[in-house]
Amino acid sequence: MKKSIHPTYYPQATITCSCGAVLTTGSTQAEMTTEICSACHPFYTGKKKMIDTTGRVDRFKKLSEKAAVKKEAAKAKPAKVVKAKVEKKNVIKK
Ligand SMILES: [Zn+2]
Repeated sequence: MKKSIHPTYYPQATITCSCGAVLTTGSTQAEMTTEICSACHPFYTGKKKMIDTTGRVDRFKKLSEKAAVKKEAAKAKPAKVVKAKVEKKNVIKK
């Protein structure tokens, strides 16, 4: 190996997961952190678990609630809107 061109190698580097699991490996970084690992990922555990780190599911639920409210409002309105259009047309004819 050439000298002073290789990064420092840590044979006992640790990877810490947000679930609490700690893995030991060899790496050029002494410590690393991850959000998910083989101890907690649904693929390995076989459990169906929601992984929502950015809150996208909550955002979608809020949007769908808003959409439902708008639909109900739209159902109640149409009759009024038609009447308003008819009144305007009459005004133009006179
Ligand atoms: Zn984990």
